[in-house]
Formats: sequence, structure tokens, C-alpha cells
Amino acid sequence: MEGNLEEAVGIINELIERIENAHLNIALTGESGSGKSSFINAFLGIGHEDGDAASTRVMETTTSISSYEHPKFPNVTFWDLPDIGTPNFQPKSYLKQVNFSDYDFFFIFSSARFRENDAKLAQEIRQMGKKFYFVRTKVDSDLDNERKAKPKSFNRENVLQQIRKNCSQHLQKVGIEEPQVFLISNFELASFDFPKLLDILGEELPEHKRHVFLLSLPNISEAIINQKKATLQEKIWLKDLTSVLQPFSSLMGMSREDNIAQLQKHLNDYQRAFGVDDASLLKISQESNRSIEELKTFIKSPHLLTIKEDESLSERYAEIFCSLNGGLLATGPYYRKSYKMQLYFLETVADDAKTLLREIWESSV
Ligand code: GDP
Ligand code: MG
Repeated sequence: MEGNLEEAVGIINELIERIENAHLNIALTGESGSGKSSFINAFLGIGHEDGDAASTRVMETTTSISSYEHPKFPNVTFWDLPDIGTPNFQPKSYLKQVNFSDYDFFFIFSSARFRENDAKLAQEIRQMGKKFYFVRTKVDSDLDNERKAKPKSFNRENVLQQIRKNCSQHLQKVGIEEPQVFLISNFELASFDFPKLLDILGEELPEHKRHVFLLSLPNISEAIINQKKATLQEKIWLKDLTSVLQPFSSLMGMSREDNIAQLQKHLNDYQRAFGVDDASLLKISQESNRSIEELKTFIKSPHLLTIKEDESLSERYAEIFCSLNGGLLATGPYYRKSYKMQLYFLETVADDAKTLLREIWESSV
């Protein structure tokens, strides 16, 4: 507003840098066998039998802290903390031992029975000024068991409500008001409270950490895909704003080739974030028993920059741009075109992710 464009550009660049360099450290604690490793694997989209999977065992005792880096977004790390252990548990010294201040927030995992030590830990985490989210896993098997035990009176909502109430009451006993309890199944992440948990995390995280958090989410629902798209649109918009405010920046002098190379990179980044990259397609193909070629017939983004025999990449670029621009290959700096192209590529990849989600879901029922 004051016409100080240089400062405005500086502020935006700083913001973009903060977003790009944000780290997210997520701590998981809870009883051995409560599903921490399974959760990490499900979140990271790693099969339990893959080499880099967090080991899941029925009777596992974790004695040291294990870390799991997100395979696509190394700024996001899960920390599998050792179990609380002894009955004379001292939450303060435990939190000190695990360097509690290093984590953005804590997940406290619990499965069958509620442990009073988990409530003590929750209380202390709060007192240390950190956030915790109480995650009650394996609700799928609770429902199965109840259905078998009481086939006549079984009511799904009542069972879930009962579990939620039980956990809340235990947490309230140690003075935690309005405790948030999330019921999940690691085998069906898209069901139960997992989507709600993600929404709340997204809201409660500091603004600059939201971006990488959203990007790191598994592509298990249209809502997540839309949120990812929105955060990437914002970033494209911010970058474009700097080039508009500073028309003599380095972007201006970019050649068409540089521009295409950059666009190609953006396309690859989007495909990775939305699980439409080659590695993700390979995984989907193995899980769904469909060839990669068949999967690629449903989606558009892998074909965006694929050129025909008698065509150059530059011609392909012009063709796409014309189709976006009502048939006109308007003259003007490439960075303006790049903005439109990036938004179009992002839209295409996000649509592909939704198409794949529907295809896989439909073929699995
Ligand atoms: P950790 O010790 O906390 O890391 O727990 P694991 O992830 O190793 O899980 C222990 C066992 O519980 C494994 O056999 C998992 O397959 C199983 N498990 C984990 N989460 C769930 C869940 O949500 N539902 C069901 N039914 N089983 C689960
Ligand atoms: Mg484990």
C-alpha cells in the first residue's frame, strides 16, 4: 500500500522460505502393542512388509527412540518414543529423557485398556505447554468383538460412544478438561476419527507448519486432496505475486526451455505429493493387481508433457498454453504463462489423485 515493492517482495520471500524450511516432529508414545508402528506405516503409506516399515509386532518392547522420516517430505519425522514402563512412572523425568521440547506435539496411543500412566503423562505434557492428542486404536476389532458377543443388541455408534466416554472420563479424572479423544483403526485410516484428527491438527499447527503437514498426509480422501491442492495454490500464488511485484527479477529473463524445465519439476513435485508419481503408481499397481499402463489410462498428468514423435517439448508447451488461453498464444513474459500452467498442472494432478482413489476404492468393494 505504501508502494514499497522491494520490502513487500522481501516479506513474501521470507514467508515462502519459512514455509519451505518448516520442520514437523511428531512424537508417539503409548503402550507396546497399541499400534504406534502400524500408524506410522499407514500414515507414511508404507506396507507392513516393506523393508523400511516400522516393525509391527504383537509383543514389542521399544527401549530407545526410533525415528521415521517421511519418504517424500523429509522435513516430517515421526518419533517412536519408548514405553513409559514401570508402575512408579514419573512423567517429568520421562519427558526430560525424551527431550520433549523437540516435538511439535504428542500422540498418546492406547488400545484395549486405559492406563492411568497415560493420563499422568497427558497431564504433564499439557503442563509443559505442549499439545497432546489421545488416540484410541483398534476400534475395528472392538466393533467386531461386540458384534459377535451381542449380535442382537449391537449398535455401532453406542459402542464407539462408550469407548470415547471411557477414555474421556479417565483423562478428566486427572484434571484434563474437555479431553479430545480420537478413535481410529490403522487398517481403515479413512474411517472413524482420523479425518477429524487431521482437521484439528491442521487448525492447531502454526501457520508455517501447516503447509508441510498437509503435503505429508496420505491421499486417502477427496477432502485431503482438496486441502493439499489449496495449500499448493497458495504457494503458487505467493510466488507469482513476487514476480508481478518485481517484474525485473531473474524470472523475467528466463528462456522457454528454462521455463519448461521448471514446469516439469513442478509437475513431478505435485505427482509425488498426490501419489501419482511412478513409485506410487507401482505400489498401487501391486496392491490392486492392475498394470501401471492400465492405471495410466485413467489419469491425465503422466501424459501432460509427453510428446508425440514429430513434436518438440516446446510445441507441446505452446499447445497446452493455447488450450488454456482460448486458443491464443499470447505474447508476454513466460512467468505469466507459467503461473497459469502451474495451476493447470496442479489441478490435473489433484484430479488424477481423486480418480485413482475412486478406481481403487471401487475395485476393492
Ligand atoms: P506398537 O507396539 O505400538 O508399535 O504396535 P504395533 O503397530 O506393532 O501393533 C501391534 C499389533 O496390533 C499388530 O499385530 C498390529 O497389526 C495390530 N494393530 C495395530 N493397529 C491396529 C488397529 O487399528 N486395528 C487392529 N485390529 N489391529 C491393529
Ligand atoms: Mg512399535
